[in-house]
Amino acid sequence: MGNDLERMPVLFVGHGSPMNAIEDNQFTRTWEKLAREIPRPKSVLCLSAHFAGGKSLVVTAENPKTIHDFYGFPEELNQKKYPTPGSPELAQRIMNLHPDAQPTNDWGLDHGAWSILCHMYPQGDIPVVQMSLDLSLPADKQMDIGKHLEPLRNEGVLLLGSGNIAHNLGLASSRSKEPFQWASAFDEKVRELIDLKQYGIMADYMALPGAGKSVPTTEHFVPLLYVLGALDEKDTPDAFCTEYVYGSISMTGYLFG
Ligand code: ZN
Repeated sequence: MGNDLERMPVLFVGHGSPMNAIEDNQFTRTWEKLAREIPRPKSVLCLSAHFAGGKSLVVTAENPKTIHDFYGFPEELNQKKYPTPGSPELAQRIMNLHPDAQPTNDWGLDHGAWSILCHMYPQGDIPVVQMSLDLSLPADKQMDIGKHLEPLRNEGVLLLGSGNIAHNLGLASSRSKEPFQWASAFDEKVRELIDLKQYGIMADYMALPGAGKSVPTTEHFVPLLYVLGALDEKDTPDAFCTEYVYGSISMTGYLFG
C-alpha cells in the first residue's frame, strides 16, 4: 500500500479559540502556510482535545458533520460549516492498526479539527477522520497508540494532533498580554525536551515545571503524546506559533518531519 507516496510529516497544532475558524490572524496564516509547505496528504487523521473519553472511537462517516461544540460565540461562527469528506477506508485501516479502536457514528468534526483544517485545506477536498483520545490510559500507552498509527505516514495520511501545550481556561485573563510564569515554564520545558528529542520523558509530563496549572485536565495535552509516538529518530521538530492567548493558553505547534 502506498509505496510511491512520500512519507508524511506529523503535526501538532495549538488550536486556541474556535474564533480562529472565521478569523484571519497570525495563527491562521501560519496554518495556511504550513499546508502549502508540507506534502499534500491523501487524508488526515485528526486527534483532537475535543473528542476524548475512555476509549478509542473512530469516526466512520462518509460525510462527517461539522460539530459546533462551543457556546456564546457569534452567529457567524455557529453557521460556519466545513464540508469535507470522511474516509471509511482510513477508519478501517486505523482499526486494523489499533485493534482496541471501535467505530462510531456519533461524531463528525469538532472545532479542534475543523477550525484548523478550514484554513489548511479550505477547499474541503481532503478526507478527514477523527479518532478519540483515550484519557483512561497512562501517558506511555497513549504514546504507544501513536506508534501503532505510524505506518499511516507512509500511506499519505497526515497525523494531526490538535490541543494546546498549556491550557487553563479557569485562569485565562483577557488582560494578560504576557504568558503566566507557570505556562511559559511548562511550555519551554516541553520545547526543550522536544528539541532534544527526549520524547520518552514526556510520559512523565506532570513532573515538569508548571504542569499543575498548565495541564489542569489532560485532554489538550494528550494529542501531543499521540503525535510523539508516531515519530522516528530522523524526524526533526520545528516549533511555530509560539505565542500565548489570555496568558494561560500556549498556541505553540510542532511540525515533525
Ligand atoms: Zn480546545
